[in-house]
Amino acid sequence: MLSDACRSLRDAVRDVPDFPRPGIIFKDITPILCDGKLFRIAIDLFLERCRAMEIDKIVCIDARGFLFGSTVAYELGIGLVPIRKKGKLPYKTERAAYTLEYGEAEMEMHIDSIYRGERIALIDDLLATGGTSASAATLIDLFGGVLVEAQFLIELEFLNGRQKLEPASVVSFLKF
Ligand code: AMP
Repeated sequence: MLSDACRSLRDAVRDVPDFPRPGIIFKDITPILCDGKLFRIAIDLFLERCRAMEIDKIVCIDARGFLFGSTVAYELGIGLVPIRKKGKLPYKTERAAYTLEYGEAEMEMHIDSIYRGERIALIDDLLATGGTSASAATLIDLFGGVLVEAQFLIELEFLNGRQKLEPASVVSFLKF
């Protein structure tokens, strides 16, 4: 059963067919972002999870993951680590390749962002095939971080992306 809060969020997600490519139904979260009440509900869902586990840092994924991850990190008073598409981060990086629902790419993280043993929550807007977040998990692991939980506002369950993150704990609030 969906809570009323989750139902109102779910209802606000806008399907945009054939974006950015024919055949893809893009889940547009901007109606959530531009409604202060809904945005707060979404942030509170992440916060509730993170407060229940001792998290040292939030790792979030370029670009919509930043919108949620940064607010959660601010509220918890903990560090934020951006994982970005290749070529965007200015300092020394490590890189992990991944396949997207609509393409292929590489993600990068600064080499001095995560220290051994740090407890990490990974945050992104949407879990599709899982390639993006699996590359983030690889980068977290490379530096000895402990991926405590991967958290997503939306999960496209039919793509089975959570399999790629196993055995990490995966939580999503809106399932399609
Ligand atoms: P994936 O690596 O396939 O799990 O893709 C997840 C990433 O791509 C997330 O950062 C999403 O923002 C974006 N993404 C993939 N598919 C969609 C979709 N159908 N609608 C919106 N965003 C998507």
